[in-house]
Amino acid sequence: MNQILIIYTGGTIGMMSDPVTKALVPINFEQIMDNVPELERLNCKIKVHSFDTVIDSSNMNPEIWNELARLIKKNYDSVDGFVVLHGSDTMAFSASALSFMLENLDKPVIFTGSQLPISAVRTDAKENLMTAIELAKAKKNDRARVPEVCIYFDYKLFRGNRAFKYNSSKFEAFRSPNYPILAESGVHLRFSVNDIRQPGTEPIIVHNMAANDVAVLKLYPGISPKVVESILASEVRGVIMETYGSGNTTTDDWFIDLLKKAIDSGKVILDISQCKVGTVELGRYETSKQLKDIGVTNGYDMTFEAAVTKMMYLLGQSNDPLQVKAWLETDLRGELTIS
Ligand code: ASP
Repeated sequence: MNQILIIYTGGTIGMMSDPVTKALVPINFEQIMDNVPELERLNCKIKVHSFDTVIDSSNMNPEIWNELARLIKKNYDSVDGFVVLHGSDTMAFSASALSFMLENLDKPVIFTGSQLPISAVRTDAKENLMTAIELAKAKKNDRARVPEVCIYFDYKLFRGNRAFKYNSSKFEAFRSPNYPILAESGVHLRFSVNDIRQPGTEPIIVHNMAANDVAVLKLYPGISPKVVESILASEVRGVIMETYGSGNTTTDDWFIDLLKKAIDSGKVILDISQCKVGTVELGRYETSKQLKDIGVTNGYDMTFEAAVTKMMYLLGQSNDPLQVKAWLETDLRGELTIS
């Protein structure tokens, strides 16, 4: 019989109204189990690990990612797949982070949660949880059908490092416009076999998230030299620059000079677009050609969540900015499409 490890970190799925403040707060896992007697009827063994302190995912941080990765490593040989119960607010960051930290993954790690608590009458939690378990244990010819870090939400399975939360009130909370969904749940579970990554034969390597010195520079017309300077002067090694359209920025001399100075001093500047669909094409317009010339890194069609966590991960792997740049521009875990 298949064995699945459910890791409970918190999130709305396991929240209840505080009787005094009326705000939603996380509860313990036993109370979740009480709400889903159907779990007993799934044809698999379920182990549960609940974090000592369960959190709203707005409090997520790299130490907890390291703890999650350690748990996965510890249980890797004894289970067939993992389901991570997590708040939806930062789920795409955690799923992206874990995708980079788990190299050569060949088992499913399915993140899920819900928009309404599991005890609510109209909850979306039960379907999300039950199907996430089905996906974590799904096999064909004795091999996992989805050996990836994924997000399952509202009948769709997404590659974790391609998805982002785009809606805070609909059950359809996630989207992944730059990559097809990996599976869809209806009367049957339909897998998009050609879009699912297949593992090699190398054993899994579990990496630590060892750096977080990353800043974000989001452009807007009218941004001042003072603002850009203060972000680029900060004590960080990596900057995610959110640009316009296909990777364009102002061509004002002061701006290009500040970027060049930062790159020459050893910072890595990663260009991703503010557009949710499409890709960065450095050199397509005059307004991005100079960026390429001064050594800005191409983020292609990466999500903001993938860009931030990939930068953190790689800064922890190397102190050489050129090496980090080369890895950022490489498809490591299916997070970008090189056009
Ligand atoms: N604030 C909650 C969290 O991210 C929202 C959710 O779970 O959907 O923990």
